[in-house]
Amino acid sequence: MTVWSAERKAVLEAAQRMSEKGFVVGTAGNISMRLKKSGGSELMAITPTSRYYDTIGVDDIAVVDFDGNRVEGEFSPSVETMLHLGVYKARKKVNAVIHSHPVLSSAFAVAGMEIPPIIEDQVTYLGGGIKVAEYALSGSQELVKNALAALGPRNAVILANHGAVCVGKDMREAFTNLEMLEKTAKIYLWVLSIGKLTPIPAEALDAMSAYFSYVHGDSE
Ligand SMILES: [Zn+2]
Repeated sequence: MTVWSAERKAVLEAAQRMSEKGFVVGTAGNISMRLKKSGGSELMAITPTSRYYDTIGVDDIAVVDFDGNRVEGEFSPSVETMLHLGVYKARKKVNAVIHSHPVLSSAFAVAGMEIPPIIEDQVTYLGGGIKVAEYALSGSQELVKNALAALGPRNAVILANHGAVCVGKDMREAFTNLEMLEKTAKIYLWVLSIGKLTPIPAEALDAMSAYFSYVHGDSE
């Protein structure tokens, strides 16, 4: 019998959708969900490393403890396991994390340019401007530190010369945030090519930011 089957299925389906929608190429990217055990301890379900998402099943989604040790699954968990765990330790309301390589967001990752808060749904879904985490090698502890610093309380961050991390209270929200990030990057690219940007009025930006903090903030 597969343990945590519903959660591992959600991880697998999101990974397949991420691949089908072109948010990654090949075996790139990784997706996880927080698992809450009765008694309060926590585990994480995460995609295995270096496997095509259309060739794996629910049993192949790894389950690890919060130190990164594998407790379920035949394959090694993603190389970014510590990045995902870092997010869950820092952000108590986050229960799903998607690391992908979306093309337009990655253009800003290469340019090293933040995306300012330019459009309403970006602010209410993602929490405002999207920062670029300082470069660090894939799988390194430095990447975990840099990504968390740039993510802050928001729901998306761009990783320099690499890709993006999007988070949510559940898998659907995390996936929506990935789509929202890529949509925002697309709009900003067009705005830069048009050559004119009208900012969101400050009062409206404050009100939407306050709404985001109310919904997503860690204070109860
Ligand atoms: Zn990556």
